Amino acid sequence: MAPVSLVTVTMVTLCLYCDMTTGLSTSEAAQFTVSGSYSATLTVSSTSTTYTISSSGMPDHAWQSVNPNTPTAQNHVVTVPKTPTVASTKGCLPMGQIAITRTGVSLYNPLASGYVNAVEGSSAETFDSCDGHATDRGDYHYHKLPSSCLWQNELDYLIGVAMDGYPIYGPNTTGYSAWLTTSSLDDCHGITIGGEYRYVATTDFPYLLGCFHGVISDSSFDTTYSCSSSTNYAQWNGYLCSCHELSNAANSLTSLSQIVTLVGLVAMSTAPSQQFL
Ligand SMILES: [Zn+2]
Repeated sequence: MAPVSLVTVTMVTLCLYCDMTTGLSTSEAAQFTVSGSYSATLTVSSTSTTYTISSSGMPDHAWQSVNPNTPTAQNHVVTVPKTPTVASTKGCLPMGQIAITRTGVSLYNPLASGYVNAVEGSSAETFDSCDGHATDRGDYHYHKLPSSCLWQNELDYLIGVAMDGYPIYGPNTTGYSAWLTTSSLDDCHGITIGGEYRYVATTDFPYLLGCFHGVISDSSFDTTYSCSSSTNYAQWNGYLCSCHELSNAANSLTSLSQIVTLVGLVAMSTAPSQQFL
């Protein structure tokens, strides 16, 4: 039998350090629930490898019709991996659902039709008293931090989960004296805390996510565009892409010599680069 080569050991080590991460914990998954008010329904089922969140998409709070549309019950079924895989090339965020809240409501990227900021500025859309509104199909959703009726300044508050399986938290975070803002986060709007990667919803653009840190395993989900731009917060056809640092990181994983170099750097470092976790 041939001895295990240094290359094999190196690549396995790389995978252990870089590719497999933790998604929703059991206690986080248990926080996905609704009271049943306002026609909100939600169930969570699981297999050994996935969670599936099924909901009516109706918010678990009061809402108002603030545009020509009225919220109606949807049939949301979101399946996410229990163990997300870090994407070597980050995914851009399509318009429509990119994540789901702990109450089963859709989270959208910050763009409105015309590819303009839906939340702030001259293109801002109208939101109800709970920070949401409905599409013409009746899908109630948030484009921004839902800070009126969902998250209300609680510390370390789970807001929801993104399509790649990573949790989304509010900006009030243990260990930080002020709410986290976009400048404190990576391009995908995430941060690693206690060894766990999470997205953070903030009051500033792009509010929720900047790109997908992990692989989307649901083949029906539209991941047409991958981040390859050197420009942060670019958009293509309604996709938001904010990956200038991350695309550089992905490009570095192209040759064995560079992988070996990377492992050497990881081995020497007591604090591995956040980009590779
Ligand atoms: Zn909208």
